[in-house]
Amino acid sequence: MERTLVLIKPDAVQRGMIGLVTGRFESKGLKVAGLKMMQLTDGLLNEHYGHLSDKPFFPRIKSFMQETPVVAMCLEGVDAVDVVRGLCGVTNARQASPGTIRGDFGMSVQCNLVHASDSLETARAEVPRFFSDAELFTYAKADDPVVYADDER
Ligand code: UDP
Ligand code: MG
Repeated sequence: MERTLVLIKPDAVQRGMIGLVTGRFESKGLKVAGLKMMQLTDGLLNEHYGHLSDKPFFPRIKSFMQETPVVAMCLEGVDAVDVVRGLCGVTNARQASPGTIRGDFGMSVQCNLVHASDSLETARAEVPRFFSDAELFTYAKADDPVVYADDER
């Protein structure tokens, strides 16, 4: 099982889409291992978007991500990192495929509703950046046996 980080961004919060976006992941069969609302600080965003610090849009994305609290979510499942990236769609929401969250609900590069870890290595750094051990839960879910075959879990 993998764990990955999702952030529901301020555009989705403003548009009343927290439930809709969360529901996409739940309906897919991913397990919510952690969930909370957070007001992101400069320090956390400098770390989280550190790989983009030399880009011209860096100050804009930082201020965008602080416009409202975000919803941080840790999702768990087999191949969860790739599955979640696939559900989100490509960065530019105008080019994202229909059926993805960005493709169905977005028109922007910046305001693309969600963040998702882009690799297992990134997920391993991002999950503990946003969640303490005590905020992450391991539990048996009633639908686990019908979401996966016995030899897939
Ligand atoms: N972004 C932007 N302009 C760009 C590229 C990215 O505003 O030209 C924003 C966008 O919100 C994106 C985030 O910066 O989701 C992080 O960029 P990244 O390349 O990591 O895209 P992602 O992994 O989110 O698809
Ligand atoms: Mg990224």
